[in-house]
Amino acid sequence: MVRNRNLAKAISDAGWGMFTNFLAYKLEDKGGVLVEIDRWFPSSKLCSNCYNQVSELPLDVREWTCPHCKTHHDRDGNAATNIRAEGIRMLQVDGTSISADGGEVRPKGGRKSVLWHCPLKSETA
Ligand SMILES: [Zn+2]
Repeated sequence: MVRNRNLAKAISDAGWGMFTNFLAYKLEDKGGVLVEIDRWFPSSKLCSNCYNQVSELPLDVREWTCPHCKTHHDRDGNAATNIRAEGIRMLQVDGTSISADGGEVRPKGGRKSVLWHCPLKSETA
């Protein structure tokens, strides 16, 4: 589509920026908060059960078993669990009131969103 790689990257970045701006705006409107995790956070390589991190996980590996706790993972499901836990951890570090243990968030508008249980590192250590 775009032959110049730098231009393609700039357009891609602008598209992502526009998307996150739109998302942040919509969330703020609903009393929510957009949390962006570090792009290098090892969401796929981290076992969501014991937090052991594998050194290599090629993109074609869609399922894997943790060598430490033997939990079998779907790559994307495991990554989603880790991203969610990291987002909750970041909210807690920021001092925003949120519960990671089946709790709920009550935004400004009085509506509430229920968070599903997701153990954090500090809860299992
Ligand atoms: Zn594990």
